[in-house]
Amino acid sequence: MDHIKSAIRTIPDYPKPGIMFRDVTTLLGDAGAFRAAVDAMVFPHAGKKIDKVAGIEARGFILGGAVAHQLSVGFVPIRKKGKLPHSTLSQSYELEYGTDEVEIHTDAIQPGESVLIVDDLIATGGTAEAAIKLIRSAGGEVVGCSFVIDLPDIGGAKKIEAHGVKVASLVAFE
Ligand code: 5GP
Repeated sequence: MDHIKSAIRTIPDYPKPGIMFRDVTTLLGDAGAFRAAVDAMVFPHAGKKIDKVAGIEARGFILGGAVAHQLSVGFVPIRKKGKLPHSTLSQSYELEYGTDEVEIHTDAIQPGESVLIVDDLIATGGTAEAAIKLIRSAGGEVVGCSFVIDLPDIGGAKKIEAHGVKVASLVAFE
């Protein structure tokens, strides 16, 4: 995992002072690190029935598309409000200041399908929790979540595991 961790760039004070932004574009641009990350995101869920991968906008699309290809299953985008063209289910979630909303197409998941959620990073877990609610309201079962990065001090993984969903991540930053 050292290769994966060292391929992630840290940008201090982005998008605002005091935030250490973990930039995965450098990982995505490194062929070996990208492939290793995708393989390692699939591995913890090996042997489970997975019918679809749901990726969270925007970096979850890149990683989730690759994970779906690896598993030979379909991909479902979970998008910010107002971006999906067909009928949608919506779920709002708390931000540090205010709220945000994510959406899924109503017909993206068939009842009983097993879905793996993919994103680049888990912090508070609010985004992933909203994704879990969307998938469950669409009739799907969430088999797990895979992230490249966990910020364990913030406690998002614990929040997600309280929903009975296994969380896998590749590297941790303080
Ligand atoms: P949470 O909802 O868990 O608090 O925040 C996770 C979401 O915010 C993810 O969709 C993730 O892409 C984005 N995010 C928050 N902080 C960072 C960061 O430092 N780096 C990256 N790449 N994404 C972040």
